[in-house]
Amino acid sequence: MKNLWSDREARSFVRRYAKQRVNRDRALRVYTSRLLGGEPRLVLHGGGNTSVKTVMKDVMGQDTEVLCVKGSGWDMAAIEPQGLPAVRLRPLREMARLKRLTDEDMVNAQRVNLLDSTAPNPSVETLLHAFLPHKFIDHTHANAVLSLTDQKDGEKLCRRVFGNKMGYVPYIMPGFDLSRKALEVYEADPSVEGLILLKHGIFTFGDTAREAYSRMIAMVTLAERRLKKGRGKVFAAAKLPKKTASVADIAPILRGLTRHGGKRLIFDFRGGAKVLNFVNGKDLRRYARQGTATPDHVIRTKQKPLITPAPETGGLNAFRKGTARALDRYVKDYQAYFKRNNRRQRIKRTELDPMPRLIMVPGVGVFGLGADAKAARIAADLAETNIEVITAAERLGAYQVISEADCFDIEYWSLEQAKLGKAAEKPLARHVSVVTGGGSGIGAATARALAAEGSEVAVLDRDEKTAWAVAAEFGGLGLACDVTDGRAVRRAFDQVVKRYGGVDIVVSNAGAAWQGTIGTVPDKVLRDSFELNFFAHQSVAQNAVRVMAAQGTGGCLLFNASKQAVNPGRDLGPYGVAKAAALALMRQYALDYGDQGIRACAVNADRIRSGLLTDGMVRARARARGLSQKDYMGGNLLGQEVTAEDVAKVFVDLARSPKTTAAIVTVDGGNIAAALR
Ligand code: ZN
Repeated sequence: MKNLWSDREARSFVRRYAKQRVNRDRALRVYTSRLLGGEPRLVLHGGGNTSVKTVMKDVMGQDTEVLCVKGSGWDMAAIEPQGLPAVRLRPLREMARLKRLTDEDMVNAQRVNLLDSTAPNPSVETLLHAFLPHKFIDHTHANAVLSLTDQKDGEKLCRRVFGNKMGYVPYIMPGFDLSRKALEVYEADPSVEGLILLKHGIFTFGDTAREAYSRMIAMVTLAERRLKKGRGKVFAAAKLPKKTASVADIAPILRGLTRHGGKRLIFDFRGGAKVLNFVNGKDLRRYARQGTATPDHVIRTKQKPLITPAPETGGLNAFRKGTARALDRYVKDYQAYFKRNNRRQRIKRTELDPMPRLIMVPGVGVFGLGADAKAARIAADLAETNIEVITAAERLGAYQVISEADCFDIEYWSLEQAKLGKAAEKPLARHVSVVTGGGSGIGAATARALAAEGSEVAVLDRDEKTAWAVAAEFGGLGLACDVTDGRAVRRAFDQVVKRYGGVDIVVSNAGAAWQGTIGTVPDKVLRDSFELNFFAHQSVAQNAVRVMAAQGTGGCLLFNASKQAVNPGRDLGPYGVAKAAALALMRQYALDYGDQGIRACAVNADRIRSGLLTDGMVRARARARGLSQKDYMGGNLLGQEVTAEDVAKVFVDLARSPKTTAAIVTVDGGNIAAALR
């Protein structure tokens, strides 16, 4: 591993932060924390932490010795000084004299000694940093070190690689006991440059930021060199079908099966050579179900992945049955694991949902699962890291990690249990929505409104840039898609399924107004209008119900019809006739798919400023009626202009109304001629 320290960069950090009255120690602590955090083979998603012991002024202006240590919720790759909260050092050190300390008391003691009461919680490994005397301390979960220690004889192997330069700390879960043990190991030989925490990670320390960092890189490099000497090929391949089914075919099946207590999960797929090499192995069940490479992954991925049968093209029914059986076993095993381990707890734990957070599919790849796209992505990232660590470990010997009981202690940590049920979920959390014509106007407003309700949202638009721009506002997926091209629609749905695992809500919104007197209008105009205002809705809806049927968990189809569908305007025949057909299409879907729990509804909007009704058109129409623009736009029963956001709200209301189907809701400020009843 390359040492990225640069004197020039270090000086520029010191200069830059001096302007914010951040001292040299903290500036350099930020610098090397970012170096470590920027390397995914060292730390990933909150794993690892760093500290510096320095002097800061308290409220009385008095110099105070403090430990600045990584705060929870901060990513080391982008850390700032406020991500390294300052805790008074003396009271922390005195705690080394205690015999025992609960996690809750430890967290409290750390908080009451903060210089800034609004700072984030200091890391759970704070006491370990505080007890050791060194000025700079770095801690990572380096993949290469884990591949060495996650072995049957991991300690022996590590001692051979690192020798006396490192101290060796047996596995204890993070907290007071581990901190005490680490101090004891260090005191037995104060000449060590760091500590190997068996089955967990590595600490290095030094008098300067550069020394601690350089020692980390040097130790990880030693581990990497040792791993290179492992055997070449690792996993004997399992027998797989000649042609495996695609991600887009199997993801909705998996997503439907893993719904639990009415709650769905969001998926994130990973493939590629390394992943396939791993999931295609004959002994997958042995090496994939040992447990995670470092304990804290358990919170995100659970101890074991679900392993499905290999899906064969054309054999999706068999795949569904085989997976349902495997999942049933998985759930029973998980519940038994909980019971077995909860028995020895003094304070009983609350059982978490038994659904897997990783699914390994031979021949295809791995899915990360979570309550939202971010959690799914983190699970998938950790899966890739575990695959790398386990592959290297198996090349050397046999992968082996902490016991089931230790695993349970992390998964059901009291500090984690305390978080349960605290964050209220938004109404459309765990849902995946697709909005066509989502790059502007009503579509963009609807995409934003769905995201604000907690849904993952894919924004489809003919114009790729606007789709990306709208999706970027809420971290959604932006896709270029001409909805009049059936193959493009299929591709877009496949991409959505690959990204999120399925589809729950579809807002078929894209449309455009063609004009012409119906008796003389060229055929082409009418056909073009039907392509977009009818057939595109049909191909979007067909793809939606295909995915929804595979999930088997219902769904919601929403169409942007138009008041033209029931109250035609003069010379707007090409538009209105196609929209009337789209309205009939909605009713047909409601009728044909109601028994599968798939709902279909439409929104009739009128006089909304959008791609369909530009400012120029508003001016012309108002002039033709002898009205001001304001009077024209507000020319309805309520006398108020209707906005894209008003329409978006109704789409969201319909998505949230589980017993409403085949409904048409008007959003036009009131137009009695277009009223449906
Ligand atoms: Zn750690």
